[in-house]
Amino acid sequence: MAQIAFLGLGTMGRGMAANLAAAGHAVTAWNRTPRDTPELDAAGVTRSESIQEAVSGADYVMYCLADDQAVHDVVLAPGGVAELVEERSVVIDLSTISPEMSAEEAAAYSARGISFLDAPVFGSKGEAAAGGLWIVAGGARDVFDDAKEVLDPISETTHYMGGPGNGARMKLVGNLTVAAQLEALGESLTLARKAGLDLQDVLGVFAVTDFRSPIFDGVGSAVLAGDYSSSFALKLMLKDALLVKEFADGLGSPIPGTEATLATIQKAVDSGWGEENASALIKTLAAEADVDLSGAGSANAHQENK
Ligand code: NAP
Repeated sequence: MAQIAFLGLGTMGRGMAANLAAAGHAVTAWNRTPRDTPELDAAGVTRSESIQEAVSGADYVMYCLADDQAVHDVVLAPGGVAELVEERSVVIDLSTISPEMSAEEAAAYSARGISFLDAPVFGSKGEAAAGGLWIVAGGARDVFDDAKEVLDPISETTHYMGGPGNGARMKLVGNLTVAAQLEALGESLTLARKAGLDLQDVLGVFAVTDFRSPIFDGVGSAVLAGDYSSSFALKLMLKDALLVKEFADGLGSPIPGTEATLATIQKAVDSGWGEENASALIKTLAAEADVDLSGAGSANAHQENK
């Protein structure tokens, strides 16, 4: 079993750290802001008050932090991980960040001969808590293969995407699709409401057709329940949409749909919904159409099965 330093105990990091401890690894966790985390205490995770103490003696240093700025502050700034980590440690970054920041990290570790994987994740709070994330990793193949002992306990599947930075690139490619699905769900529910369709019936069709999606199922039900409590904060989705735009623009790849979605997300954040779930972007569309998406829909709705 490995000694793991886990840094960043937000929505995602908490579940990951608990599952690593539950798998039998010795986990020492650090978070910038000290927080009570009884679930981590119960899982046997040791808390540390400094990065230095956490990374000391670690076989693996893993972190899941908000954004480029957080990775800069925790990793690259003086007194950060890149300076303090022991040379025998393997470092794994599970955050969603820009390929440029990922390259900066890789260079800092490489300069000291330290093995590093960029390994962002798909899935949300529920998958993190259940150890069912989908991990996309970049780096050396043998490092990835050896790291399966700490990637498997937090994931349903792991995907080796190629050399350094390819995990970060794959994450942005995937998040383009996530954003498109949320925008499509919001536009279609709003149109359906305008047209007088029953929204439960609409979701019933979405659930079985050849364009079904777990996002439509989960988010659709939550929207009809008026539930925008955060699993994936809208402000993080804005960060990701901006990363996708920068990434695509840099490669000269057209993203007109994502740009439209980015505008919807920005309006929702400007409306003060940044701490709510990413699905709160849908509230912007509903507000523009002057409709309320919560509730089951019209009284005369019906569904027939055959
Ligand atoms: P979160 O709940 O907001 O947690 C963010 C973590 O980053 C916290 O531990 C926070 O520490 C830390 N942090 C932020 N700025 C920092 C700084 N300047 N210095 C040090 N620590 C800093 O976010 P999350 O939902 O867990 O997401 C974490 C990462 O996973 C993000 O890159 C996100 O895009 C990605 N992700 C999230 C989801 C999801 O559904 N939530 C899904 C896939 C990927 P404090 O507690 O001190 O603020």
